[in-house]
Amino acid sequence: MLKGRTAVITGGSRGIGKAIALGMAEKGANIALIYAGNGEAAASACAAASAYGAKAKAYPCDVADFSATQVVCERIIADFAGIDILVNNAGITRDNLLLRLSEEDFDQVVGVNLKGAFNMIKHLSRPLMKSACGRIINITSTSGLAGNVGQANYAASKAGLVGLTKTIAREFAGRGITCNAIAPGFIATDMTADLPESVVAQAMGAIPMKRMGQVEEVASLAVFLASGLSAYITGEVIRVDGGMCI
Ligand code: NAP
Repeated sequence: MLKGRTAVITGGSRGIGKAIALGMAEKGANIALIYAGNGEAAASACAAASAYGAKAKAYPCDVADFSATQVVCERIIADFAGIDILVNNAGITRDNLLLRLSEEDFDQVVGVNLKGAFNMIKHLSRPLMKSACGRIINITSTSGLAGNVGQANYAASKAGLVGLTKTIAREFAGRGITCNAIAPGFIATDMTADLPESVVAQAMGAIPMKRMGQVEEVASLAVFLASGLSAYITGEVIRVDGGMCI
């Protein structure tokens, strides 16, 4: 399904990003994953992707840093001789009620989640235009669609990604690149592992399917959006949330 394609996945070393990397590797794609600092997790994700026969390499880089992303993108293009798929998945939370939310926590979250995606698209759009079927997939969140108490920074960054997705979809449609967003709801990863029980219980009450999602349930949609099967879909935001935001 993705044989011969190369996918760059930010935050591809853990959680949803790792599941996307493995899902794409299983379908034949080569994988360049970017991570922040956990080299052990990155090496383990690469080993798992290689087990499918894929070429897989991991690159440490802070996606919020414009110059650092430029350097790493140039290295990836040199290593893989072009790319076809970009998944902007790297994301962080620094939750707090607005009255207690610091400027630093606002800037950091917007820097990684929103500007990080801009940086990657900026540096990889020309190589993507050379692909026969370029794909950009941005991982937003239901928080960006509906808002969420304690997440003004995160929700703003994720809502920004929706606007970015729709604009890039319009700008790049004529260049053969689709751009879509996936909005996961409550997915079991390190990011949600430490949430207080009361928050989890409240979330379960709001999810018609009454369970958290699994990373593979997000990854399968990313694989579809990266494939030729989704050729006429662009500018779309698709929720994977067990019905939470119906
Ligand atoms: P996670 O388990 O915490 O993993 C985060 C990944 O992003 C790691 O690979 C991490 O690298 C990388 N990363 C963090 N900051 C980075 C930076 N500045 N530069 C480069 N890479 C960075 O997260 P997750 O739960 O899988 O979430 C993945 C995406 O889905 C995020 O955008 C998140 O907002 C979104 N999402 C998650 C949920 C959920 O319920 N989990 C719901 C909606 C949306 P290291 O391992 O090196 O730290």
